[in-house]
Amino acid sequence: MEKKFETNAIRTQLERSQFLEHSTPMYLTSSFVFEDAEDMRASFAEEKDRNVYSRYSNPNSSEFIEKVCQMEGAAAGFAFSSGMAAVFSTLAALLNSGDHILSARSIFGSTHSLFTNFFPKWNIDHSYFKIDELELIESLITPKTKLIYAESPTNPGVDILDLEALGKIAKKHNLILVIDNCFASPYLQQPIKFGADLVIHSGTKLMDGQGRVLAGITVGSKELIEKVYRFSRITGPALSPFNAWVLSKSLETLAVRVDRHCDNALKLATFLESHEKVNWVKYPFLKSHPKYEIAKKQMKAGGCVVAFEVKGGLEAGQKFFDSIKLLSLSANLGDSRSIVTHPASTTHSKLSVEERAQTGITDGMVRVSVGLEHVDDIIADVKQALA
Ligand SMILES: *Cc1c(COP(=O)(O)O)cnc(C)c1O
Repeated sequence: MEKKFETNAIRTQLERSQFLEHSTPMYLTSSFVFEDAEDMRASFAEEKDRNVYSRYSNPNSSEFIEKVCQMEGAAAGFAFSSGMAAVFSTLAALLNSGDHILSARSIFGSTHSLFTNFFPKWNIDHSYFKIDELELIESLITPKTKLIYAESPTNPGVDILDLEALGKIAKKHNLILVIDNCFASPYLQQPIKFGADLVIHSGTKLMDGQGRVLAGITVGSKELIEKVYRFSRITGPALSPFNAWVLSKSLETLAVRVDRHCDNALKLATFLESHEKVNWVKYPFLKSHPKYEIAKKQMKAGGCVVAFEVKGGLEAGQKFFDSIKLLSLSANLGDSRSIVTHPASTTHSKLSVEERAQTGITDGMVRVSVGLEHVDDIIADVKQALA
């Protein structure tokens, strides 16, 4: 019988060693040994499915990849040292000089920098579409377009993109659809169901969930992942066995953690919505969210991030940050500790003012990654800082 998400997250495990350990041990080894000359030859010729060198594969990475594949409904995957290593290596593996990326405008700041400042060096071009103007996408497709790239919910504006509609456009034009699913986590949303070919995660966020390690992963079809693997085993962005072990353990508690993150976030968003010093609040599972219906269709709950704008612009925003006592001023998200960020001066400071405006980032905008502290304490801190 097919097992449920939570069960697979816990019970997917490497074969036990001679010691019959209950919990998977760490395989801190850079290489693996061969029985004899023939074994060595066959292993290097890839005639055997086995570990050779940890830049190619490692048991801890394999366990982590297997779990994420089950969660996302994917056939294969590769694990990376960071989310950006996953983004870069995946796209670099698939694209050739002269190719064109069609991307949502609201994407992670470093991904935007990659498209704008580095890919042009290899003659890889991009155009941006607005996520609420999907009907215009088709007009941006050129004979050079190879793939569509997007995130949902978006960072930091928590906008929602209709994954099913995007999946249909990608199919129709025979384009590879790549979704960065980091903000949702595989527990809340599985983009492959809606037509994505590859799903990327920064494991640094909700997957680790405790702010300890950097990691990334890409999962999808065997055929596409094979290309990603060929590129990555040579260029060396592999996840360390230690971090893979941490991540694989973290996934055992992903469902319960994310449930609580979402409960707390919805409660904070609801509180902010009725606060007189707040201009607007955005959270996917608030009825006031412009894409509430789509969010409900494709996500199990609204995620851990709430965005809002303090009345009074930049000055009021800074005063808010200076008055926060419990929450951390930091740039990470998906951590057990609640974090407040000012996107305009941190994660998105590399964007020009116009680029920020097009991504919906205002000077007074605050992004809260709602953690696992008691929600009453989280709300109390935000309340006193607003006051
Ligand atoms: C953090 C993040 C990344 C990059 O991940 P790192 O692990 O920091 O390299 C990519 N996409 C999104 C949406 C992110 O939030």
